[in-house]
Parts: sequence; structure tokens; C-alpha cells
Amino acid sequence: MTSQVMLPSNAAIISDLDGVTYRGDAPIPTAVRAFQHWHEQGVPYAFVTNNSTKTAEEFADKLNRMAIPVTPDRIVTSSLVVARRVRAEIPAASRVMVIGAPSLVGAMEAQGFQIADKDVRAVVVGLDRAFTFEKLQQAQSALLAGASFFGTNADRMLPHGLGYEPGAGSILAAIETASGVAPIVTGKPQPDLVHMALEILGSDPATTFMLGDQIETDIMAGQAAGLRTILVRTGVPPREVPGVAADIVVESLLELTLSWERTLF
Ligand SMILES: [Mg+2]
Repeated sequence: MTSQVMLPSNAAIISDLDGVTYRGDAPIPTAVRAFQHWHEQGVPYAFVTNNSTKTAEEFADKLNRMAIPVTPDRIVTSSLVVARRVRAEIPAASRVMVIGAPSLVGAMEAQGFQIADKDVRAVVVGLDRAFTFEKLQQAQSALLAGASFFGTNADRMLPHGLGYEPGAGSILAAIETASGVAPIVTGKPQPDLVHMALEILGSDPATTFMLGDQIETDIMAGQAAGLRTILVRTGVPPREVPGVAADIVVESLLELTLSWERTLF
């Protein structure tokens, strides 16, 4: 028997994906049960992820295969948010360079941009597992010529198998070092993804909770957006951030109970 934490009956939830709903390709069973239950109870929820290498449709398919009910319009990726941010700063139909996965290219094309590798208005960078010296040099040339620099997220490392792989932040750092230009980054811990999720849910920030397994991304993004935050200890152990703590800490999502429920599970 674990302790129970009460959430208000009108709570809405904005949740991270990796480390909360699954670890890599393995679903987290307590999370599957919790989200199924919230779905049945009509608790509004949306997901926010710094991962720019899949589309919202691909994430929805992955969650649905794990029996977590969700539609693609409730999934906010760093690709979608950075593309919106670039569109707010430079005109549609502009030429932009993309260093990243096909999902990032698709998000930029959906905003009306032309993808090119020279004479570009912006360089937009996410995790690119085919990153090369040539791409680094193309980005350097574009930035030295005055292009704006945007990044999906600054994650330095990502859980990978039993170890880690470099995150998008490693690639951003290489390009920043080569060009002397610092990127505008929209992923967590910035609040941009959370703001978009709030817009999609139409929920009140006062009763919306940010749920995640990492303090330096999820909890900080939730706090930056003015939400109360829940840290769940089902992911890789979180790195501590001095002075930053979640409002609620749980071992699994089964510890969260809506205030009008007598027993949840
Ligand atoms: Mg996570």
C-alpha cells in the first residue's frame, strides 16, 4: 500500500513521455493504468516531449500500442513548437536550413518554409543522428552570414539502452562554438511546450499539473509556465537542481487520486 496524493477533481495533466509513460520501448504499467483511468474519468491530459525525432502521429501510435488512449492533437513535440516559433519570427516561404530528423523537416514544411542548405534566413536544429562535419560547416556559414539560430531543445544526453547517447544540446553546442551564435531554444525547461499544451487543453493553469521524471526539464518548464508540478520516480534518476523542487513527488502514478474518488485502484 502506497501513500495517496489528492489532486483536485477538476485537475488537468500535462505530462512528459519518456520516463513517465514508457522507458524506451517498454511501457510503464502503472502509468498505463493511470492514464486509462484518467481517460475513463474524463481528466483532460496532453503530452509534451523534447524529442523532435518523431511526429505527434508516431507518438500517438506508440502510446496507443501500449494501450494509453491519446490522439495526435494532444501531443506537443519540440519540432512543432520550434517551427511555430520560427514562423513567428520570419516570414513563411523563407528558406531555412534544418539539421534534424524528418519529423523536424516536416514540421518546418508544414509552416510553409522552404528547406535549403544555403542562402537561408534561419538554421533550425534538433537531434540528428546523421550529423556530420559538413552539416556543422554549412550551419556555421549560414550563421556567420546572419541567419537566425533555433534549437528544439538543449538536452545534453539521452537514455539509450543501458547507457546514454548525445542529445540535441550536444549538436547545438558544436554549432554555437563554431559560429559564436547562441541558439533560441524552445524545448523544456523553457515553458513554450507547456504553453502550447495549455492552449490545446483549454485548461486553467491553477488546476493544471505538470508531470515529469526530470527536474531540470519537466519540473522547471512547469514552474516557468506557472503550474504546480509532480515528479514521478519511474524514469532515470533525476539530476538535482539547487533550489528547484517539485510540489509533489510520487513513486508511481497510482499514488495520484482525484479528490472525489474514495479509492482509485
Ligand atoms: Mg522524461
